[in-house]
Amino acid sequence: MTDVGAAEALIFERIQPLPARRVALSEAAGGILREPVRAERDQPPFDRVTMDGIAIALRDWQDGVRSFEVVGLQAAGAPPMTLSAPGRCIEIMTGAMLPAGADAVIPVERISRETTQAHVEPTLDVAARQFIHPRGSDGQAGSLLLEPGTSLNPPEVAILASAGCAEVEIGAAPRVAVISTGDELVEPGQPVATHQIRSSNDWAIAAALERRCSASVTRVLIKDEREEMLARIAALHDESDVLVLSGGVSMGRYDLVPGVLEQLGVELVFHKIEQRPGRPMWFGMSRASKPVFALPGNPVSTLVCLYRYVLPAIHRALGLTATPHEIVRLAENVEFAPDLAYFLPVVVESSSDGAALANPRPTNTSGDFVSLASTTGFVELPRGEDVYSKGLAVRLFRW
Ligand code: AMP
Ligand code: MG
Repeated sequence: MTDVGAAEALIFERIQPLPARRVALSEAAGGILREPVRAERDQPPFDRVTMDGIAIALRDWQDGVRSFEVVGLQAAGAPPMTLSAPGRCIEIMTGAMLPAGADAVIPVERISRETTQAHVEPTLDVAARQFIHPRGSDGQAGSLLLEPGTSLNPPEVAILASAGCAEVEIGAAPRVAVISTGDELVEPGQPVATHQIRSSNDWAIAAALERRCSASVTRVLIKDEREEMLARIAALHDESDVLVLSGGVSMGRYDLVPGVLEQLGVELVFHKIEQRPGRPMWFGMSRASKPVFALPGNPVSTLVCLYRYVLPAIHRALGLTATPHEIVRLAENVEFAPDLAYFLPVVVESSSDGAALANPRPTNTSGDFVSLASTTGFVELPRGEDVYSKGLAVRLFRW
């Protein structure tokens, strides 16, 4: 049996990068950047005026001028005007380019206007280059703005736009086959007999993959029947980048998945992890180097394995560089005697002093996924303790 860290390492070692794809900027949010992005121009690209008011030559102010002749009006987006003679000013708007010959801006609140004259409060302090955001002060043309591996959230989308990127290279949306196995499984919307259950794992897996990995998901139910499994999994393998199965990986007579996968040439990397829940997880690589994750069918086990192993693996394949772990503190003591890692559902609340506290919400069994409603996610309690103390810093996995 493999422990949690070793299982993760075995997966990460084998994960190959997915291809990159050029997409329109409108498609970039949520993607993982696969190319460096450099500044198109200096930022700001010109000496940018930061106040509505008048642009003057500081020299005039130092020479005692307090009333200026307004010789023009310059808005944001207009080419720069020129202050050509002493005693003049240009009415200027926030965002405009500083006029040639001007080197200070006086805000409109400090000015009284009389037809073409602007009278400035005579005792005002006027500093050189005041209310001017200097060209290049935030960044130089050609400087690296975003590195490959960056997750594209709205601020990064703004940076891409500022760099003039109408298109950008991101990790291509992975095609993931989400396969639930089990004779008992029935789709929502279909009649369900007393001896059957609704298939829910595949819906949660698909939702997580779509939200977290922008995956394109094909969701399929397959009976516990060897020939059907062989044919359908083979076909799904050919049209997908990643396979995520749930159910059929334990020791029962109808747990056919490991045998079927090996018959299809998927090489076993590990089976079973020293953890609860989710111990029977199976992982292998197909001959085409596609990862195959076979998760135990119990719904809490499925979710824990999905978030602990599958999503991080796909993030890597998309090109995401390692992100810091999210750490929270246990809000109370937790007892867990087995020599296994324990994945414990929690509700996280922030305390007033800034700590994030994880309140345990253990489920009745690994089949009890109804108790997961409104939980934040789960924490990982590393194996080897019997009691995990209140205040212990532990890693959180958010749904
Ligand atoms: P298995 O891993 O196939 O032995 O399944 C373990 C338990 O999980 C059984 O009670 C199954 O009915 C349940 N289960 C398996 N697949 C699903 C699914 N797709 N949705 C909900 N429960 C499932
Ligand atoms: Mg089953």
